Order: sequence, then C-alpha cells, then structure tokens
Amino acid sequence: MQKHYFIKTYGCQMNVHESEKLAGMLRSLGYTETENMENADVIVFNTCCIRDAAEQKVLGNIGAVKKLKKLNPDLIIAVCGCMSQENGRAELFKQKYPHVSIVIGTHNLHKFKDYLIQYQQTKKKVFEIWQSEKDICEDVDMYRTSNNNAWVNIMYGCNNFCTYCIVPYVRGRERSRAMADIITEVKQLIAEGYKYITLLGQNVNSYGNDFKDGTNFAQLLTELAHLDGDFRIKFMTSHPKDLTTEVINAIATEPKLSKVIHLPVQSGSNKILKLMNRNYTVEHYKSLIKQIKDTVPNYFISTDIIVGFPHETEKDFMDTYNLVQEVNYGGVFGFMYSPRTGTIAEQMENQVPQDIKNARVNKLLSLSKEIIKEQNKQLVGKTLEALVETEDDNYYYATLDCGKNVIIDKTINLTLPTFKNVKIKAISGNKLIAEFI
Ligand code: SF4
Repeated sequence: MQKHYFIKTYGCQMNVHESEKLAGMLRSLGYTETENMENADVIVFNTCCIRDAAEQKVLGNIGAVKKLKKLNPDLIIAVCGCMSQENGRAELFKQKYPHVSIVIGTHNLHKFKDYLIQYQQTKKKVFEIWQSEKDICEDVDMYRTSNNNAWVNIMYGCNNFCTYCIVPYVRGRERSRAMADIITEVKQLIAEGYKYITLLGQNVNSYGNDFKDGTNFAQLLTELAHLDGDFRIKFMTSHPKDLTTEVINAIATEPKLSKVIHLPVQSGSNKILKLMNRNYTVEHYKSLIKQIKDTVPNYFISTDIIVGFPHETEKDFMDTYNLVQEVNYGGVFGFMYSPRTGTIAEQMENQVPQDIKNARVNKLLSLSKEIIKEQNKQLVGKTLEALVETEDDNYYYATLDCGKNVIIDKTINLTLPTFKNVKIKAISGNKLIAEFI
C-alpha cells in the first residue's frame, strides 16, 4: 500500500530548501506527498526558532498531532530544524511529547533517512542532536518544489553573533561548499530547465572565507554567470559588512546576475547597530547603497528592519524611518524585536514596550507601502526583463526580476518558461500590465 508523508516547514528559505531534502529522502524510500496531514504515515515538523511566537506555534502544532498518533499508532512523527538543535529542546520533546518518535538537529538532517529506517526496524525512538557541525554532505536526495526557481546552498552556518539572533547557536560556524560542487549542481539545474538559481547562505558575502585561499563570493558569482544557458542567478542573504565592491561590480556588469539586492540594514541608528553587534555604520551602509545605485542598471534594493530593539529611542527610530525614505527601498521586511532565549539582547535593559513597537512598525510599513506605490507608478513606460511563466487564452503571466507580477496581452506565441523584454503600460492593483516589445 502506498505510504505518504507530510512536511510542515516553518521559517526561512534555508528551511524551505532543507524540506526539499527531507522530501527527497522520503521519496527515495517510496513515500509520496499528501497535503492532508490525517492521511500521512510520516509527519515531519521542520522547525524555526528565530522568534518566540514561532516556537510557541510549532509546539502547539506538534502537541495537536497527538490525537493522530492515537488513531494510528504506526504514524511516525519527526521533529528537526533549528528548534530541535536548541539547548534542552530534545529533552523537552522526550518528556512532554511522547508521541514524537524522531528528533534530530540541524547538523545531522542529511541522515534523516537512516534514522527513519532505524526507527522502523527497531521501534526505538531516535533522539540524535549533534553538538557541532561536521563536513558538508554532498550526497543528499532532493525533491525540488519551487517551480522555475531552484535553491542552492553555497554555505552553512554564521560567524556573526548579532546580539538578537539565535542562528549561530543552532547552525554552527560558517562552512562554504566547494565551488566545483556548486558549479556542478547549478549546471545540472540549468540543464533541467530551471530559470532562477537562488544561492543560499546566512551570509553569502563571506562565501569562501573559511578556505583561506582567496576564494570569494564575487568569483563564485562570476563563474556561475559565465555558464551556458538561459538562466539568472539570485542570492540571499547579504551582510552589509561583507558586501564588497567586487560583488557590486559583478552584479552591475554580468547580465545573468539578478539586479535584486536584499541588504538587511536592521536599524538606521549607529547606537542601535552597535548594540546589535552588526559591525557596520549607517555611513558605510549608505556608501554601499550609493555604489549600487551608481553602477547597477535597473537595481532593486530591499531590506530587513527590526524596530523596538532594546534602548531604541524615538530619535533612533526616526533615524531608521529617515533612512528608509532616503534609500527609497523597493521592499521593507519590518519586524518588531522579540527577545530570544539564549541571546545577548534578551538580557539587555530598556526593553521597548509592545505598544511602542507596534506603532513604530506600522509607521515604517506604511511609509514603505507609499514608496512602493510611487515606484510602481514610475515603472510605467519602462522596458524590463520578465520571466514569462504561465498563460491562459488571452494573457501571459510573468514576473519581473524583483518578483512583481506582470500580465501581458497574448500577441505572440512563446514556449514557456522564457525571459522576454516587456514594456510596462499600466498598473492594476498590485499587478503591472505590459506588452511585448
Ligand atoms: S548575520 Fe546576524 S542575523 Fe544573520 S544569521 Fe548571522 S547572526 Fe543571525
């Protein structure tokens, strides 16, 4: 009888991609996916611990599947990802969630298949958290789920220890994948027809630092941009302290590199950046933005901002607000600071009251909305490259490099997906109306 799996993924793109690896391992054992948790023989929670609220949600959801285990004692429930890697979490699952059969951390995710087989054969629960990272494992089954985009890990872990962030504690130190392995994977993806290849790392700009032989991110980008085929390279996430002029120049000059630059600033106040241990100043950040604006054609800059960090005064917040206005971001991901157990910021005095955080994030996001509205208006009349992905009888549906949706009159026949230049004619709600040129 056909066996089914259900994977619930929380958190960032790194986790989304790791769920593709979990799915690949499950499929190699003959499981197929079900969208209905009740029909699953294996349920995997791929967890995130970046915010306290996210953790509470994960725990609630893991608790709720106890009833499914009662109905089907053969059901296998597994928990993996950042939350299970946190100190003391595996013990918590052991004590309080007896219906969970497998708990593994971030460093041994590639061995999930072995643990699953082990559990099936012995019926003994598996609680296996590796305390530190080991060599990168290249040989992992994968089942990609993101249409025309393929995620590719270029590095794992983070060395930065921003004072609000739990990631370095649960993902370990930076380890870069060998450039030859990345190139082999990307060539394969291009051959399979993927149009966007998104390089993933907590801090892609420090790619290669651990090799200590001069290998760097700009070299990797340039090598990939010179591969044959009709594709574009994107990446996330950048740290402003490590973004180099070499990388900006590569983006500016290589046609196959996306012009979307997500550069998290987090705050527009030097005092707050220092408390966050971000290791750059607002002045340095602005100089990077200037270089991008001066050199990269059709650039699209977005950012992450945390409001209400401990000690943030109204003036600090207004410095951030003014920076958003000045940079004129195409997108702002604004978050209210929420303390994470085990981080330095959690222990800081002068935590900002919740109502003030609410007011600040709302103010920032409404500014961002206004900026985006204005930027959309300015797109009218411009010619831009779009990836045409789907069609119906009358229209083609495409996305710009920056992810905005475009609808195009069906005046020509195309084999999809394909990149085409389109001229933006008008805006309708969130959608851009365009024509082929
Ligand atoms: S760079 Fe900072 S925010 Fe990003 S993962 Fe590393 S510690 Fe966390």
